[in-house]
Amino acid sequence: MKGRPGRSTIAVHAGLEREPGAPGAMTTPIYQSSTFDLTESAYRDIAESGGENAVWYSRLGNPTVAATARAIAELEGGDEALLFSSGMAATSTALLATVPTGGRVVAADALYGDTHVLLGRLAEERGCRVEYVPVEDLGRWHAALSEGADVVFVESLSNPMLRVADLPGLAAAAHAAGALAVVDSTFTTPVNLRPLEHGFDLVLHSATKYLNGHSDLLAGTAVGSEALLQLIRRRAWNDGGCLDPHAAFLLRRGLRTLELRMERHNANALEIARWLEAHPEVEAVSYPLLDSHPDRDLAGRLLGGGSGIVTVRLRGGDARALRFLRELRLIHEAASLGGVESLACAPHNTSHVALSPAERERAGILPGTVRLSLGIEDADDLLEDVDHALSASSKLRSAEGIRDGD
Ligand code: PLP
Repeated sequence: MKGRPGRSTIAVHAGLEREPGAPGAMTTPIYQSSTFDLTESAYRDIAESGGENAVWYSRLGNPTVAATARAIAELEGGDEALLFSSGMAATSTALLATVPTGGRVVAADALYGDTHVLLGRLAEERGCRVEYVPVEDLGRWHAALSEGADVVFVESLSNPMLRVADLPGLAAAAHAAGALAVVDSTFTTPVNLRPLEHGFDLVLHSATKYLNGHSDLLAGTAVGSEALLQLIRRRAWNDGGCLDPHAAFLLRRGLRTLELRMERHNANALEIARWLEAHPEVEAVSYPLLDSHPDRDLAGRLLGGGSGIVTVRLRGGDARALRFLRELRLIHEAASLGGVESLACAPHNTSHVALSPAERERAGILPGTVRLSLGIEDADDLLEDVDHALSASSKLRSAEGIRDGD
């Protein structure tokens, strides 16, 4: 092969290690073993490096997990990747490794609810100072960073309002302040955006979502330079949130179709976002590739696609949103996102339930908001379902006298 392989080729082939006993196998086997024979060379490596290179205990390293990590590192263009038992395990371990007690984090004000809670805990329990800045306001980022920071933390596409982070601008601002630039890229995936190419230092994912894509496991990942990952790895070994080899095998299998899946997620979501925007029962649609989106220009410059998420605000407030969810017949009313099957939920009572109404409002999550995660089904079937749920919930809305804003 001439030059660097393309992303689909990487997704199918990268990192796989053939079993010596079956050299023709197409996959790395599941080494479902918590421990391994201690050999002379393992003892030597444990004595010299703490066991960085030996395979001797699965919390510290496992060949199936390593094969999957290599593929993710290659897709993101990083030196290395670490895998965790969930997205939150990746985020918490990365932050605990990089923000000292009494340290300072400058974070976007639009983040996944549990990440928000985690940052609050860093402040309460470890005396860290956490300052929130509107992701779109580069001037405020510069002001907040003028007194220095350990970490700048953003989501590339925010959950659930899909604000686009100006990664090149934020990386420069972070580095000028001596901070690490850390991004949760769960919503974008390496198909739509590769944050390391824009100067970010660390890329986190809930691999539970698009990277795996089949809603059948929990996993997280952190990707970056060898030196940074060395720091996080030591913390991960002790905190213990490692990925199980069986889940790593499934994640590797899911990754093989990442590019194809994302093409369909992107296409379905764009079509449905456009359709929803013209619907009289819809007050607002947030999708980064719509002309009405406040970050449309930035999205055009940074993103290869808008993702499979579309966030809508329905007339009739949260009561209407809940009615709409109940009326869906194909799309499941369930938390999470990024799977081949379409899901929908209301952030106020799921992903962002831990935020106060004022915090939700600051993040743009107004009453009536529904987050749709469009899967890879046929767009016509998804549209029919959304259309049905909108009109069925509209009839109930008039029958029950739900007013706008209830
Ligand atoms: N980051 C984002 C943007 C998320 O949406 C989520 C979960 O929804 C997480 C992190 C946490 O991931 P996990 O549920 O795998 O711990």
